[in-house]
Formats: sequence, C-alpha cells, structure tokens
Amino acid sequence: MILILLSLAFGAGLPEINVWFPEEEGVPTKIAQWCEPPVVNVCKDSEIKLKDVEGAFLFLNQPVVEIREVRNCHCQLRLGEIQFASTTCKDISPLHGQAIITYSDGCISSGIVIIRTQEPIVLTHETGHALGWTHTSLFNHVMNPEYEGVGWFKLGME
Ligand SMILES: [Zn+2]
Repeated sequence: MILILLSLAFGAGLPEINVWFPEEEGVPTKIAQWCEPPVVNVCKDSEIKLKDVEGAFLFLNQPVVEIREVRNCHCQLRLGEIQFASTTCKDISPLHGQAIITYSDGCISSGIVIIRTQEPIVLTHETGHALGWTHTSLFNHVMNPEYEGVGWFKLGME
C-alpha cells in the first residue's frame, strides 16, 4: 500500500523507504537527515499528545520550527512532513511504535510515526528514527531497540 502511494507521489524517482533501521555496535548514526526542516503535524485523533512530541524533540536536541495539531490523519508519507498518526492508519502491537521514513541522497523527504502506548520513551525512540537515527546495541540508550526495558540515556546524539 505504501509503495503504491509513494509511486503516485514521486513518479519514477522512487526514494528509499526505511521501515527497519540497522543496529550498530556503538553510538547510533544517522541513516539520513532532514536537509530542510520538516513540518511536524500531530493529528488530533492519534494517541499522541502534542506536548509529548515537543518533549521528544527537546530530548533529542532537535530544533523545530513548529509542531502543529491537525484535525485529520491522512496516513500517508508526504513530502516535507513528519506526521504523528493514529493506529487507525496502521494497527501495531501494544507498547510499541513504528516510524517510516523516505530519503534520497542522504536527505529525508517524509516521515510517519505511529505509537500505541503512552510511554514517552517509545515516542522519543520513534521520533529519533523520524529524524534519521539508527539503532544501537548500547544498553540504556534511547535508540536501543529493546527500549521498553532501558532508560533515557542519549549518549551519541547531537
Ligand atoms: Zn527502533
């Protein structure tokens, strides 16, 4: 489904899609980055609170122009936007979240985050992916994929 939407949106120049982020031994790196600051939209019917998204961006030291609440979840990857969407877009298991990004030439072009938990650390982890960060096996790091059991350490992030 996502592939179809993307091919419509981008035509022949299909960007890479990342739904699974590699795990690194040391501190995580960025698989790509936002070369232009994204528009960040939190849809009203998502399970995600605007102030929690603001908290995640603050924790990740990510400067953001504006985080807005929007009425509808369009459930799509849109150029220049990170959407924090609802589990009505895609059902995911409880206590987990998912981030999907598209990128080309090292620049992220779109992102979507879906969370099915109120745990801020899960939101922060997925927001990290939306900003391009990969996984790390370092214990206690927010980008450790087994983050449910770890703390808030963010060693290695800018
Ligand atoms: Zn992850």
